[in-house]
Amino acid sequence: MTEIVCKITCNKCGHELQEKERVCPNCGSKKRTMHITAREELHIATSERLKIKDSQLPSNKKLRFDLIQGSVKSEITPNKRAKIKRVIDKNHDSYYEHVEDYDGTVLHHCEEPLSEHYGHGSAKKTSDNSHKPD
Ligand SMILES: [Zn+2]
Repeated sequence: MTEIVCKITCNKCGHELQEKERVCPNCGSKKRTMHITAREELHIATSERLKIKDSQLPSNKKLRFDLIQGSVKSEITPNKRAKIKRVIDKNHDSYYEHVEDYDGTVLHHCEEPLSEHYGHGSAKKTSDNSHKPD
């Protein structure tokens, strides 16, 4: 089952960055690469991220909605770029992940209740809380 892990690194020197670090503390570059590991490793070159938080909730449950959209270099189709969209919507118990190349070929598609997505996933612990159900 797909396990999603996000990692951000500096485009210039490869230093691993925290999400809140806008500038690389190592070399000062502002260019970042987001790596999403999901069955295959996807390197998102240009990405958008939208997070909606509910400040009334405890910190580990604040994140209600998490969207990532971008262009990736797919390792399934070498030298090809692909489009990825992943949406986690905790309020609607919804998980959506879609990867397709620019010819429209779907490389990966996953759409299911978030609780099920997590339920039959591996028990592997991850520091990324964003896709855990409450
Ligand atoms: Zn750097």
